[in-house]
Amino acid sequence: MTTAFHIDETYLRHRNPEGHPERVARIEALLSLAPRAKEIGVSVVPAKRRASLEELRLAHTAEYVDAIMSTAGRSYMLDADTFTVAESFDVATCAAGAMLDLVDRVMAGEFDNGFAAVRPPGHHAESERAMGFCLFNNIAVAAAYALNHHKMERVLVVDWDVHHGNGTQEIFWNDPRVLFISLHQYPFYPGTGRCDEIGDGEGRGFTVNIPMPGGFGDAEWLAAFHRVVEPIAHQFKPELVLVSAGFDAHASDPLGGMRVTEAGFAAMADSVLSIAREHAGGKMIAALEGGYDVDALAASVEAVLVRMTAGTGGGDTGTPRATSARGGEPSGPVPVAETGRDRFGQVFAPVKAALSAYWML
Ligand SMILES: [Zn+2]
Repeated sequence: MTTAFHIDETYLRHRNPEGHPERVARIEALLSLAPRAKEIGVSVVPAKRRASLEELRLAHTAEYVDAIMSTAGRSYMLDADTFTVAESFDVATCAAGAMLDLVDRVMAGEFDNGFAAVRPPGHHAESERAMGFCLFNNIAVAAAYALNHHKMERVLVVDWDVHHGNGTQEIFWNDPRVLFISLHQYPFYPGTGRCDEIGDGEGRGFTVNIPMPGGFGDAEWLAAFHRVVEPIAHQFKPELVLVSAGFDAHASDPLGGMRVTEAGFAAMADSVLSIAREHAGGKMIAALEGGYDVDALAASVEAVLVRMTAGTGGGDTGTPRATSARGGEPSGPVPVAETGRDRFGQVFAPVKAALSAYWML
């Protein structure tokens, strides 16, 4: 497998106020991962192009794109925790452009899969609203581009950030061509993501929300993948798999309240990679969303890159093994404990009930 890891110093140019969790240190940590990525056979690719205004309008209204463009050159507060500096608009067009570049290159066969380590993140940005540190919805722009430019008919977006991907949900709410599956802590910011939010019109059934209580770890998150994400994805048969890869469900994360480890994220990557291999010729592209403990972020991204470049060969998704030894504590195999399955059961029943008219679970 050939894997692209998109990372660039340009993402250091978007700055939030002092003390803000979404900070340049996140990208600094991932820049320092580049030598390790090369070591494991990953191709490190720099920023190559910006999303055009027309491309941004695939997911956002023209008025909204113009409004964000008008922030160029100045500092603004767009909502209680979403800010811009003079360079932010330009950097945000690079972040969305990174995803478009990866879509093109994966479609052309240059890479099997790719990971875009970008900021600002995107999944909270709605068609006409900036929020939750997000300006443009990078994953939604990529999904819409795959539909419009590459004439795809079925794109799967899996969002494993600890927060609900309200922006992606809103943008594709009525669109059956994009199956949006979000796993997230609930109740939690931004407040949406109940399991009875399933889309509307022709898109009814194509929004899948898996709201989970805080405290869930690898076993419960993997149970969600095995019992909900995989069965629905296999029925949908995506031509491309996109991942909103946030790492704020990590046990060390200061914002999230979950207990996922690097090995857990590696196993989630295995799950989406196996879906991509079965239906999409292996085409999987991930965009960085959250993840605010920089050491945990770097170790988790590394673990995911290892799985992306190795392929899995199958059979070992239940016993992922991370390669990192962060803080001298190597992550060993993580058994999917029966207790985890049982604890996921309380979440599974209402999710299944909400979707039973649309998917076999
Ligand atoms: Zn998040």
